[in-house]
Amino acid sequence: MPVDFTLPPDVEEVRLRVRKFMDTNVRPEEERLESNGADRGEYVRTIVGLREKAKGEGLWNPHLPPEWDGMGLGPTAMAFVSAEAGRTGIGPFVINAQAPDEGNMHTLLHWATPEQKEQYLRPLAEGRARSCFAMTEPEVAGSDPTLIQTKAVKDGDDWVVNGHKWFISGAKGANFAILIACTDEDADPPQARNSAFMVDLPAEGWEVVRDIDTMAGRGNHCEIRITDLHVGGDKMLGGRGEGHLLGQYRLGPARLAHCMRWIGNAEVALEMLMNRALKRFAHGSMLADKQGIQWMMSESAMELYAAKLMVLHAAYKIENKLPFRQEVSMAKYHVANTLWRIVDRAIQVHGALGYSTDTPLERMMRHARSARLVDGADEVHLQTIARNMIATYKEHGSTKLATGDLL
Ligand SMILES: Cc1cc2nc3c(=O)[nH]c(=O)nc-3n(C[C@H](O)[C@H](O)[C@H](O)COP(=O)(O)OP(=O)(O)OC[C@H]3O[C@@H](n4cnc5c(N)ncnc54)[C@H](O)[C@@H]3O)c2cc1C
Repeated sequence: MPVDFTLPPDVEEVRLRVRKFMDTNVRPEEERLESNGADRGEYVRTIVGLREKAKGEGLWNPHLPPEWDGMGLGPTAMAFVSAEAGRTGIGPFVINAQAPDEGNMHTLLHWATPEQKEQYLRPLAEGRARSCFAMTEPEVAGSDPTLIQTKAVKDGDDWVVNGHKWFISGAKGANFAILIACTDEDADPPQARNSAFMVDLPAEGWEVVRDIDTMAGRGNHCEIRITDLHVGGDKMLGGRGEGHLLGQYRLGPARLAHCMRWIGNAEVALEMLMNRALKRFAHGSMLADKQGIQWMMSESAMELYAAKLMVLHAAYKIENKLPFRQEVSMAKYHVANTLWRIVDRAIQVHGALGYSTDTPLERMMRHARSARLVDGADEVHLQTIARNMIATYKEHGSTKLATGDLL
């Protein structure tokens, strides 16, 4: 019977070290920054200081192999590390496993030439550079990258790019972008229309128009205008027409990495719900004694438990080079919605306090809303899941392969 839910001792050891580091070093600093209303500069200085501590304790680049200054953890061990780091807002930055850099590091590791790796992956891995991934455009549906309008046209050995992007996370201050542009608009299949390019930043022709105001404030999700941007022929990442493939490849582990951090957030919200329910008295008993509140606890517990199992199973599939798309889509949809519901229930149990800005819950809720949009909107994942269900059932007369291929 090969199913074994015990954590290997080395993974448990890393998980506990990350938890301790976050509890003793990161959370107190984050609480200090929040209570002081610190500005961006102070956040950055604090993160830089904490990064040195993390490096000193060997908690740096958990997702990268040792030759890239990493801890060499596979996706399953990473699930635990990211969930621990995700219990704080700045934790992932402190260990250099923050979006979008983490996904970009995976992408470069897999797709870049040795020269490109030295030029782009090395500084990211050393924490000397930041990056962004530029795909979505305001004019066309981001859910369907075959519609991308940003065009790269050959100019001798080089390329000239014109277009418009938005919601490009981390664009302000990034040292380079991975840019997805259409190079072959008549390609068949349409998925072969796009290619990926490395763009050194800042660059003439790459204008950061604005840091978009979102319901969670300005989070460095930028609008970019691209005008006659010159990109060298050696800056293509992967092959011509492989931009879509690269995006898909990137999104597997990147989606899961988001899920792992969201599980950490959901855990914090659920602990706050429990804490409040056990301390608040109304109508003759504590809130925790009321059936209506207990159902919130139970539903949250079951959803969180299912979320963890789904993420671990998807990570296991990636780690063992098994088909993982269905499992990642199911995990991404489930975790994003679980986070949303648990934060909402925690707010409900806190009453007016939950609606105030005196607890982190309102901030968590504003951030949680984007989880149902980024890395594929809910409906796109539901569509993928259903498509796999139909294909599997038609071929095998069973849904087993499309429901985790477990029992
Ligand atoms: C905080 C944040 C950070 C982001 N960071 C980045 C980044 O770094 N780089 C980047 O390139 N992009 C980024 N994005 C963009 C994100 O990837 C897109 O928002 C996402 O792909 C959806 O594209 P869209 O916004 O154009 O929505 P659309 O594609 O226009 O979809 C709108 C809605 O239509 C519905 N819909 C779409 N397709 C279907 C379907 N097949 N069936 C049923 N309903 C459907 C869904 O409800 C969907 O929410 C970010 C977005 C946010 C909110």
